[in-house]
Amino acid sequence: MDAGRPGVPRREEIEELLREDLWELGRRAFEIRLRMHGRIATFVSNMVLNYTNVCTVGCSFCAFYRPPGHPEAYTYTVEEAVRRVLAVDAVYGISQVLVQGGVNPEIGIEYFERLFRELFGLS
Ligand code: SF4
Repeated sequence: MDAGRPGVPRREEIEELLREDLWELGRRAFEIRLRMHGRIATFVSNMVLNYTNVCTVGCSFCAFYRPPGHPEAYTYTVEEAVRRVLAVDAVYGISQVLVQGGVNPEIGIEYFERLFRELFGLS
């Protein structure tokens, strides 16, 4: 029988967890958390940089995206994106930027190279 990798649940274990009552699952998770880490809680002050809402994928659940040419579609230039990060950092003192956006065919790899170069230059 496959013992699995340490710390990685096997399929049967995951299926068993999904059958559990959600509140009971949360209570057990909280017990494990207390046992492992006590009452210490940590957090990261961060922001989500939505550099564009233009997307050609069109996931049915997504209320964020706009198709190319839509009046509400936007794409930040790298300079605009960096300005937004600086503005949020000035207020909240962030230490992490989550870069997330639509699949915009107008944005090439060069955009991300410049964006990440600029963002890493801020740290
Ligand atoms: S932005 Fe993401 S979630 Fe929304 S339609 Fe595009 S790929 Fe899907």
